[in-house]
Amino acid sequence: MHKKLFIPGPVEVTPEALHDMSVPMVGHRSKDYEKIHAHCVNNVKKVLYTDQFILVGTSSSTGLMEAAVRNLSRKKILSVVLGAFSDRWNKIATANGKDADRLEYEWGLAAKPADIDAKLSEGGYDLVTVVFNETSTGVMSPLKEIAEVVAKHDDVILAVDAVSGMAAAKVETDAWGIDYMLAGTQKAWSLPPGLAVAVVSERCFQRAEEVENRGFYFDLLSYKKYAAGKRTNQTPSTPAISLVHALGRQAERFAADLDAHWKKHFAMREMVHDWVAKRGFELFAEKGHESLSLTCIKNTKGIDVAGLNKELGARGYNLSNGYGALKEKTFRIAHMGTMTPPELRDLLLNVDDIMGW
Ligand SMILES: *Cc1c(COP(=O)(O)O)cnc(C)c1O
Repeated sequence: MHKKLFIPGPVEVTPEALHDMSVPMVGHRSKDYEKIHAHCVNNVKKVLYTDQFILVGTSSSTGLMEAAVRNLSRKKILSVVLGAFSDRWNKIATANGKDADRLEYEWGLAAKPADIDAKLSEGGYDLVTVVFNETSTGVMSPLKEIAEVVAKHDDVILAVDAVSGMAAAKVETDAWGIDYMLAGTQKAWSLPPGLAVAVVSERCFQRAEEVENRGFYFDLLSYKKYAAGKRTNQTPSTPAISLVHALGRQAERFAADLDAHWKKHFAMREMVHDWVAKRGFELFAEKGHESLSLTCIKNTKGIDVAGLNKELGARGYNLSNGYGALKEKTFRIAHMGTMTPPELRDLLLNVDDIMGW
């Protein structure tokens, strides 16, 4: 039996979106593909409130995290670390031979713009990496305010991992001044994994010109050359065409009523928060910084999460235990993308029924 996914990625994919992938194949150097690519990019731009370049990359999100550190730093990186994925970004930087300092927070806390400002004021940095929505802790950091302080430092580019936040929370990319922001398709875009997208500002391309050893597969300049140079709407190597098509359709659906889409995420978060309070649990995230796309719940009642998930599985549902060291200490419920409040209510009622609450 299929288990409906309430885990923070991959998330459940609607039959409609799956259907969008079953289109006849086209050559990736054909006009047919260029149309698919242009449709995708134009609609993604609407959801992200941007007119900047949209990179369509065939990889999981991690690939575009690597692209950021390889292309955007020629001096030193500041990695803001407050959970598993922000820690990963720092490790990607050092694995690529980059100089990277950590601004570290206890898991569960959000990044503080003033700390980032102070750290950047020490000088020597040219890139700061921030995870907008830490999927391991359910924490959303204040992106607009972070972008504001980073903008005070001329030479510094802000790169944002918005993997589980993009298309779940309203991010006004251009108005806030974000240079680089990436996500994969299997989180709030509610599509199968395999494709990643990034907003890439003109500043990023200028920076890449100054960076040696950008690598080959994720060289930002080559993406630009193929999509907005002599050729248009193409990619350097063969893209996951079916997913590019499906992403264009999904973005078009979200863009049809963005206000309703963002509101739905607030409503789903509230529903889970209410349930958490009524059942006597606590939220793991720092107050005021709770994620809009997933809730990380402190297992204050010591329930057997694995056992609960097994019972849920028999009923066709799947939620998530904690990440890494938080495995037994927390559990997580995702509420993003195409998921609806009634589906979430259904999950919570089933948890209650299994636990006898
Ligand atoms: C899931 C996730 C990633 C990793 O994504 P992949 O697509 O598996 O590479 C990175 N960052 C965050 C915040 C995530 O939620």
